[in-house]
Amino acid sequence: MKIVLLGAPGAGKGTQADLIVKEYGIPHISTGEAFRSNITKGTEIGLFVKSYMEKGLLVPDEVTIEIVSMRLKEDDCKNGFMLDGFPRSIPQAQALDKATSLDAVINIDVSYDVIYKRLTGRRNCSCGAIYHVSTYTSNNCAKCGKELFIRDDDKEEPIKKRLEVYEKITQPLISYYEKKGLLKTIVSSDAISDTFLKVKSILDTLI
Ligand code: ADP
Ligand code: ZN
Repeated sequence: MKIVLLGAPGAGKGTQADLIVKEYGIPHISTGEAFRSNITKGTEIGLFVKSYMEKGLLVPDEVTIEIVSMRLKEDDCKNGFMLDGFPRSIPQAQALDKATSLDAVINIDVSYDVIYKRLTGRRNCSCGAIYHVSTYTSNNCAKCGKELFIRDDDKEEPIKKRLEVYEKITQPLISYYEKKGLLKTIVSSDAISDTFLKVKSILDTLI
């Protein structure tokens, strides 16, 4: 199955993506993760994207589209994939349409207030684990023990910018995919597992 996860920053795309990988075994393609790993490794792409990400701005379409197109050509994507954080603009969606045909676009709908609280309380580990200060008070990762950190773009100003960018540039994708008959909107619940049940009920119809 070829699917896209759509939703505002903090909607829980990454969390649901991990559960989808476990259940269906399809490759998880996260542009945000790809960019962050390039930054950590100090690659040319990493140097280029860093300033955009820190400010909460989108990385230019050209670079983003190139990275995803290359990834989609790899063997493991032949039978399906899940895109998380891509597309995020109409030109990206058009480029994706040229590259492949999708089975569904899952739109995770969460209110602005909830998202704002989630992002400001988010704590990350370099192993990929994500926590929230309201439910996890330790400074170290429960999975690997490393010290948790706050992403540069999880500070107040970049968060505001990211939500603004989402509304202006990404939200139009909702009607873009609705018109194509691909959009499946689910209203996110507080409980991760409840949200996943909703996701699963959609994905099970695609197998
Ligand atoms: P979140 O969904 O919480 O904002 P991501 O990890 O998906 O986090 O993205 C982090 C940042 O990476 C974005 O704010 C943006 O700067 C950059 N980025 C990720 N995906 C894209 C994309 N498809 N197009 C442009 N920039 C992107
Ligand atoms: Zn960890």
